[in-house]
Amino acid sequence: MIIWTDLPIGDHRTICPACGRKPNDKTMGVTIAADDHGVAHCFRCGYVETRHHQRELTPAERKAFARRMDALRRQHDAEQLQRHVDAAAAAAIRWAAAEPAAEHPYLTAKSVRAHGIRIEAGHTLLIPLRDAVGHLHGLQSIAPDGSKRFMPGARVKGCYHAIGRPSGRLVICEGYATGATIHEDSGDAVAIAFNAGNLQPVAKALRTKFPCITLVVAADDDWKTDGNPGMTAATEAARAVGGLLAVPDFTDLPRGDDDTDFNDLHRLDATREVQP
Ligand SMILES: [Zn+2]
Repeated sequence: MIIWTDLPIGDHRTICPACGRKPNDKTMGVTIAADDHGVAHCFRCGYVETRHHQRELTPAERKAFARRMDALRRQHDAEQLQRHVDAAAAAAIRWAAAEPAAEHPYLTAKSVRAHGIRIEAGHTLLIPLRDAVGHLHGLQSIAPDGSKRFMPGARVKGCYHAIGRPSGRLVICEGYATGATIHEDSGDAVAIAFNAGNLQPVAKALRTKFPCITLVVAADDDWKTDGNPGMTAATEAARAVGGLLAVPDFTDLPRGDDDTDFNDLHRLDATREVQP
């Protein structure tokens, strides 16, 4: 909910009550007219709130609100683009200064190899985020303890890390370890989308790039999370591009609460194979 009385008459950019993260995350445009009518619109999540008194707006007033909101949206888009450009430049410098990765505690813990990733300052893994034409937009860093971060301000939507070259089939998944496991086990080319919300934008970008290929979305089965965001997003992404859905099958395995993806499945399965 917007606290309308906190804002004076005029146009503002503010934090969104639905998706806002921190006070300087100003994705919300608010315009308040002299008679206290107001319109608020988040340019990221689409949240809308209006403040009307006594009467409905006239068509002319509606038009004026739309014009002012357009101006706020252009300001927001320009700032976001500048952040993306700055982050991409910073990413290029860090990437160029890093070494090709060979060994890392995270890779050891996940039992996967390095595929086109680098290591920074001897301890931080860097996974590149590229768009469908190969431009570097940002980096995901993974610390030795496995904690992951994106570069602030970098574009993520529609960007991915590719492993292998697709021939007939391309698998899209969320995380690096999952993608590396799928590639090492099947030889399939893989695109790592980094999170559930980015599966569909990446799937669509790849559908445009490869119109005739079979796209497979490999789900994280978030079986202990309300609404199973991994399965939900993977199903929607597969449907959006006429692709297939692959789900890890933990039947008869001693599955832990955190076992959700194809890397977890592979490690459990490998354990079973070596047991007497
Ligand atoms: Zn929002």
